[in-house]
Amino acid sequence: MSNVIIIGAGAAGCFCAIEIKRRKPELQVTVLESGARPLAKVAITGGGRCNFTNSFEDVGRLEEAYPRGAQLMKRALRVFSNRDTMDWFQREGVQYVIQEDRCVFPKSQDAMQIVRTLENRMRHLGVELRCGAKVGAVYAEEGGFRLDTSAGPFRADSVVITTGGGALKLLEPLELQIEKPVPSLFTLKIDNDGLRSLMGALAPDAILSLAGTPFRASGTLLLTDWGVSGPATLKLSSYAARHLAGNGYKGTLMINWTGWSEDQARSFLSESARQNGKKRVANVTPDGLSARLWQHIIGRAGLREDIIWTELGSKGANRLVGALTADAYEIAGRCHFKAEFVTCGGVSLQEVNLGTLESKKYPGLYFAGEVLDLDAITGGFNLQAAWSCAMVVARSF
Ligand SMILES: Cc1cc2nc3c(=O)[nH]c(=O)nc-3n(C[C@H](O)[C@H](O)[C@H](O)COP(=O)(O)OP(=O)(O)OC[C@H]3O[C@@H](n4cnc5c(N)ncnc54)[C@H](O)[C@@H]3O)c2cc1C
Repeated sequence: MSNVIIIGAGAAGCFCAIEIKRRKPELQVTVLESGARPLAKVAITGGGRCNFTNSFEDVGRLEEAYPRGAQLMKRALRVFSNRDTMDWFQREGVQYVIQEDRCVFPKSQDAMQIVRTLENRMRHLGVELRCGAKVGAVYAEEGGFRLDTSAGPFRADSVVITTGGGALKLLEPLELQIEKPVPSLFTLKIDNDGLRSLMGALAPDAILSLAGTPFRASGTLLLTDWGVSGPATLKLSSYAARHLAGNGYKGTLMINWTGWSEDQARSFLSESARQNGKKRVANVTPDGLSARLWQHIIGRAGLREDIIWTELGSKGANRLVGALTADAYEIAGRCHFKAEFVTCGGVSLQEVNLGTLESKKYPGLYFAGEVLDLDAITGGFNLQAAWSCAMVVARSF
């Protein structure tokens, strides 16, 4: 009997094993996992709730969701879309909810329901799962592959690599082109006492950018005791992952607090001045900003905290427009904790046939998930990449 070995029992590996076995029950499908149990990462995704896909309603161009691998995802989503994912899990008994922010979670709000669903389906279909089997190296041999593992040597007719981000050492004997792995989806340290004192404050419609670069991201900005976080920051870190890594995580972060253009900011100020002449500027807050954040922005414009609207004048208004729409902070580094971290980089997409995810150099060798140079912003897009790629591979058998 022909055998397939899948290396890595994460989202991509387990889903691929299920779909290969479902299509070709005659194949012997084995998943080798270095950890003590499968799907350990899925269990902690989405804060333990598992944001397993997205409605994609807010995605204009696919590049906005997939800074690396959009072309691949265009094809992979045609094979297995986000809607297919929802249907697949629903058929397996997982009811889901699509949140207002387009993220899709199990109705149970429990990532373990996704884990158990995949585990049970693998068991029922007869997929062999070997945990505690770390693959050290993969060698291409006449008619197949040899694997050196901590559980002894294995031989396979076909191999699917689904080892996730950064786990690339086992591929060294194959001499594949690798895009250097660097982190994505992290928060930024800003050494500014004024900003840090605003811990917990939100700017729901902020636009962040890196000065002197085209990188820019919009969404909610969250201020923390170390700097900036929230969806807008994570998105910017994803878009600029390679740029920031190359610059030692330094640069100038430009914050547009309200997402307004200069003209919109100017008309807010002139309208507010007209209506509130004798009131303090600090007492008329732009929609969505808290009073203490507005006070901070007034301070950033170099204005007195008790300044009133009639005192503002055109000079003061110009400074306030600048502080509202282009407030500059030096980035002191990236934060190493609490991130919904994924890896940018991995096996170059040049190495694979995008229609099958089979290696161009080694027929019978496939890749799926984060091990590829493919990653997304937050919102369920990374898991969707794992499901879609896994299905592309499964359909190649
Ligand atoms: C805290 C956190 C929260 C996240 N939340 C979300 C979310 O809600 N929604 C979303 O879409 N994405 C989320 N992500 C990202 C998402 O989890 C990953 O993109 C996705 O799990 C990648 O799946 P994968 O199967 O490619 O890799 P992984 O899930 O990383 O699986 C790889 C598996 O391979 C095994 N392995 C590695 N090397 C070897 C080896 N040499 N031999 C044998 N086995 C090996 C690993 O132990 C692991 O089990 C989150 C990530 C983190 C860290």
